[in-house]
Amino acid sequence: MNEFIQRLSRMRANETIRSMVRETILSVDDLIQPVFIHHGENVRNEISSMPGQFQWSVDKSIDYVKSLQDCGIKAILLFGIPEKKDPQGTDTWNDKNGIIQNALRALREAVPGMLLITDVCFCEYTDHGHCGLLIERNGEYVLDHDTTLNNLALQAVSHAKAGADMVAPSGMIDGGVGVIRESLDEQGFSHVPIMAYSAKYASNFYGPFRDAAQGSPQFGDRKSYQMDFANSHEAMREIDVDVSENADLVMVKPALSYMDIIYRAKESFKMPTVAYNVSGEYAMVKAAAEKGWLDEEKIVQEIFTSLKRAGADLIISYHAEMAYKFLK
Ligand SMILES: [Zn+2]
Repeated sequence: MNEFIQRLSRMRANETIRSMVRETILSVDDLIQPVFIHHGENVRNEISSMPGQFQWSVDKSIDYVKSLQDCGIKAILLFGIPEKKDPQGTDTWNDKNGIIQNALRALREAVPGMLLITDVCFCEYTDHGHCGLLIERNGEYVLDHDTTLNNLALQAVSHAKAGADMVAPSGMIDGGVGVIRESLDEQGFSHVPIMAYSAKYASNFYGPFRDAAQGSPQFGDRKSYQMDFANSHEAMREIDVDVSENADLVMVKPALSYMDIIYRAKESFKMPTVAYNVSGEYAMVKAAAEKGWLDEEKIVQEIFTSLKRAGADLIISYHAEMAYKFLK
């Protein structure tokens, strides 16, 4: 035998020793479950392209969010599907009766201790399905970042007033994080953190989400504001900008095809880093599991652990609710 063989396998001999030298430990504390709030009462609509995920009316969402808490989930990310859409998405800053504001008040009271994060964007609330206000430029309607900023601030402050613990601007609007920070501070919400969707790619993995949130663009696409999936340096610039505008957490979205971006982001900025394991990633696992081609639980555990290994501190995932099964 060659006495110089390096026997790294010695440290893998059994589960005890493997667990002692394991470098990445997944915890339920790392997970955030998205929750879709639908207008109306007594609504529980399963999302066809995301089996096991539902749209809930505010009343029905309470038991669901309690069940998440029972599974150890500590944080949820709320998306709203309002009754009425309009060109501006005015439901988003309707203090009295906005869908998210109603959900925040109900959940705050009924499920104390659950951290309530709100998606801050307009695509589910505008009749055109884009993430802000549109202007006509050279005969084409395009998203206008500057005029959208004011409405973004209105939305974030309204969420904070209704009880949001954290706001998460997802529209990739230039200057958005800074404007939201300034407005929250001015209105007495300097304690509310911002989770910035800093590097959000114009991805084909979002397909099922559009069924879930009913916010597809009615024309065109989002490539003029979300990132080109071919780019990596640009993601670092986007994150740099959001950090300079006082983002508290930065996000990379989607997750699986973007682990290089997650790794670079963590290495470069040392910020609390969030990976969004998106609807298409969920749907792929679900579809394969339904066919018996993959073991869903084991795949989810591996995905979550590898996202952490890549540098993510937190993982937003539709699979978060099943993690209690493998996290003892
Ligand atoms: Zn949007």
